[in-house]
Amino acid sequence: MADLLLPGDVVRQRWKIDKKIGGGGFGEIYKAVDLVAKDAVALKVESVSQSKQVLKMEVAVLKKLQGCSHICKFVSCGRNENFNYLVMSLQGSNLAELRRSQAKGIFSQSTMLRIGFQILKSIKAIHDAGFLHRDIKPSNFAMGNTPETSHNCYMLDFGLARQFTKGNGEVRPARSSAGFRGTVRYASVNAHNNKEMGRQDDLWSFFYMMVEFAVGHLPWRKMKDKEQVGKMKKGYDHQQFLKSLPSGFRQFLDHLSLLKYEDKPDYKMLISVLEKVMNKKGIKESDPFDWEKM
Ligand code: ADP
Repeated sequence: MADLLLPGDVVRQRWKIDKKIGGGGFGEIYKAVDLVAKDAVALKVESVSQSKQVLKMEVAVLKKLQGCSHICKFVSCGRNENFNYLVMSLQGSNLAELRRSQAKGIFSQSTMLRIGFQILKSIKAIHDAGFLHRDIKPSNFAMGNTPETSHNCYMLDFGLARQFTKGNGEVRPARSSAGFRGTVRYASVNAHNNKEMGRQDDLWSFFYMMVEFAVGHLPWRKMKDKEQVGKMKKGYDHQQFLKSLPSGFRQFLDHLSLLKYEDKPDYKMLISVLEKVMNKKGIKESDPFDWEKM
């Protein structure tokens, strides 16, 4: 399909398109220049003729999470006859690109733990706001692109988010079955079973991400078929992953394994697992990340 915007196009007389930087499942992402504020921004667009409209949800969640240090700044949103658009702060490379740029395709424990720590905090933040992300994966996290933000990790893409709380803050009742959402490689067993996803499913995806950062791949990396991957995950002894992770992750995995849809995860404990390992290993926030060493 043809791109919705081309370099040089100007949206609402204010955002001049530089180039396309991403084209995912539901939208296209462009780097653009804000002609008023004179800085670079990211512009996400979605065709109005697309059957699945997700940008509205994305805008709602992004607005709700403003002020959180791991969330892009909301700049503007709107629509014209061809597309809906969202303008937000521009970040740098995503974590999938950064991992692949490493010679061995893995991150050091220092990089993995510090990034993981920030990602966990961003997952807690979206859950605290009453939403599940439902597509936690490396390409949905990006590092800041300025000297002030280059050590900050940002959560992207709320197109699959879902509110799991009711108005009064109580957890919504689970549907008996729900369509699969997310990305096969990082999906929890629960998601493969088409069960209503809960907070623990975002954390399972996080766990798979950490394993991939440490090892360079997941056991089902070569499988294309969702059912086949689901089958492998169900039969896989997840304790095997602990061999490649710092010892504290046993507690992490044990906790995840116990969580049901209605349960509130013990974020404090999960975050402290990472914190303790970092302290023990003398890892400092100011240390260079792997991609800064090259
Ligand atoms: P989709 O929902 O279409 O998959 P995403 O929001 O996941 O779109 O974005 C796809 C890619 O575009 C991301 O992996 C990231 O590399 C890039 N991207 C998205 N938002 C930004 C942003 N604010 N700044 C920089 N890059 C971004």
